[in-house]
Amino acid sequence: MKFETVIGLEIHAQLATKSKMFCSCSNKFGSEPNTNICPICTGQPGVLPVTNKKAVELAIKTALALKCRIEPHSVFARKHYFYPDLPKDFQISQYELPLATGGYLEIEVDGQKRKIGITRVHLEEDAGKLVHVGAARIMGAEESLVDYNRTGTPLMEIVSEPDLRSPREAAVYTQTLANLLRYIMVCDAKMEEGSLRCDANLSIREVGNQEFGVKTEVKNMNSFKAIEKALLSEEKRHHEVIEEGGQIVQETRFFDDVTETTTGMRSKEFAHDYRYFPEPDLVPIEPPGEWIEEIKKTIGELPAQRRERFIKDYQLPPEMASLLIANKSMADYLEETVKLFPKATAAANWLTGDITAYMNENKKDFSQLNLTPAQLAEILRLIDDGTLSNKIAKTVLFTVLKTGKQVKDVIAESGLTQISNEDELKKIVQEVINNNPKQVEQFKAGKETVMMYLVGQVMKLSKGRANPALANKLLTELLK
Ligand SMILES: [Zn+2]
Repeated sequence: MKFETVIGLEIHAQLATKSKMFCSCSNKFGSEPNTNICPICTGQPGVLPVTNKKAVELAIKTALALKCRIEPHSVFARKHYFYPDLPKDFQISQYELPLATGGYLEIEVDGQKRKIGITRVHLEEDAGKLVHVGAARIMGAEESLVDYNRTGTPLMEIVSEPDLRSPREAAVYTQTLANLLRYIMVCDAKMEEGSLRCDANLSIREVGNQEFGVKTEVKNMNSFKAIEKALLSEEKRHHEVIEEGGQIVQETRFFDDVTETTTGMRSKEFAHDYRYFPEPDLVPIEPPGEWIEEIKKTIGELPAQRRERFIKDYQLPPEMASLLIANKSMADYLEETVKLFPKATAAANWLTGDITAYMNENKKDFSQLNLTPAQLAEILRLIDDGTLSNKIAKTVLFTVLKTGKQVKDVIAESGLTQISNEDELKKIVQEVINNNPKQVEQFKAGKETVMMYLVGQVMKLSKGRANPALANKLLTELLK
């Protein structure tokens, strides 16, 4: 029997608002525990929630970018369950009538484009944060602490159709969505910090079968890589259970990053377990058409459109364009550089190569970089006109990155310009010839590959400053 995998994802994105979903507490990340709280978000008696307009705006913006239909009438609902991080014993979410429905997100995996359906986008509030002492989860912890700062922060849930067919597609989908959210500035989408969270529903079925197999929900995937690993492991488990004649049990499973396997957490709850009912303290959301039109204007260029433009206008190879748009700051940086130095491929090579490597090594991002687009353009221009060799340019680049000094000062201080003056270089070439009689003899005897070695010696003696093409020319002349 041949099986196919069916995956649907629920992505929770923390919205980049100043205040919480239903109260005026700060939505700032990283404050002292239990300092951004009030009677509303801690569920004291007699309080009334008020919907954050900005949160609705950002969710509508996202839904429009995902080509969803904005529902004319959507309603908040109470979802009941008990957990120490939920002081009200219910979460305000949306259930039967969500904010938006029926869109799609286009993803590209190994050069193949696919549209993944979006079932719905809805708004809800987050729960508090439990800190388990001595363990990764509540089981096995010595004690657990509750921080209510996160309680009531605005969340947007984006539910996909079960259109994904492999763990890799699931990871690419999440990455593509995260990038989109960053582009339209609704969420910083950092999986490692929890501002973007992903739960996956996975099942397998025989190819050709229209019915879905029994699904399991996988939680605790804290990076794009973890999504792929977790789902690969869960996919394998489904195959093993079914091939051994067993049955998959519908349940929620916890992914362990260390063992790279999933374990059962709890039997999967069904919607009726939550006793959903409409939230009586909040008015329905009925966004006026003019407001939706206004929000539409704020979306701007989306990553996919920018990628097409980079390929068309800058003649960048598609893979390079994908790499650049995956990091909005890097793509912005490229555009600034190209305004001053039009050879985009050269700029893109440096950005995605040495500069990215430097930032990864030093844990920096573009906003903390000691190198402005103008400085990068200046270095690129100096390579282009032959003043700097590639090798020297790299030294200049790293010195600027480390010290924040001006490009021209770095070059002046270290005398790093390329030697393109024939008379000056001739002296060095002659010295190399004098020092390497054996290789010179070999060259004269017809072994032309020795030339590479001799040019290398010129580069070495000149501390990398010799113009290699000129060195080659002079050596050839002098050895005739
Ligand atoms: Zn509050």
